[in-house]
This record gives sequence, structure tokens and C-alpha cells, in this order.
Amino acid sequence: MIISSKLILARVDALTVLPFVLIPPEARGNSALLLHEIVHSREQRNCGVLPWLLLYAISARFRMAAEVRGYLVQIAAGSISLERAATLLMQYGVDITYEQAGCLLVSARG
Ligand SMILES: [Zn+2]
Repeated sequence: MIISSKLILARVDALTVLPFVLIPPEARGNSALLLHEIVHSREQRNCGVLPWLLLYAISARFRMAAEVRGYLVQIAAGSISLERAATLLMQYGVDITYEQAGCLLVSARG
């Protein structure tokens, strides 16, 4: 269920907690962002919502891997550049440089 709401934390573009995907009204037409959130919803369905959320909250490595997968989908959809994704990856509470974030994206892209 996709909910368009302004009740999104200021630091994130959207938030997925199955069965909900919260997206700010101004991003409703952003299909690539939806694809990013669908990646998270698929992972939550496969892992279980609570285990996924706990791992996301406590493990920087898990959180970074999840976001890399999400941003790779957005890059593939042409909505953001690799450089923009690398910049965004630096905003997830992980001590990572721009160069390291770019390397993660390139390595995961294969
Ligand atoms: Zn994400």
C-alpha cells in the first residue's frame, strides 16, 4: 500500500515498512523512487519485516548494502546518477567517504 504523506522524516526521501510505503506528495510520480522502495519491500517480505528493520537499524553494513541495492535500481532507471547515489549513501549514519560509496555502487553493479 503506497501512502503519500508529508509525515516522512526529513532525512529520507521515502520509507518502507511493509505493507506500507510512505512517499511525500511531491515524489508521487517518481517511479524510480518507488522502485527503490520496492527493493526494500521485497527484502522485508523475504527476511520478515521486523528482522529487516532491526538489522537496518543496528547494522551499518546491512543498511549500506540495502541502500546500495535500492540506489542501483534508481541508477538503472535513469533517475539518479552514480555520483548522486554516492552522495546520498553518505547520509545513512555510516562513516563512509564519497569515494568509498562510489566504489560500493560500482562493485555491486558488476
Ligand atoms: Zn532505501
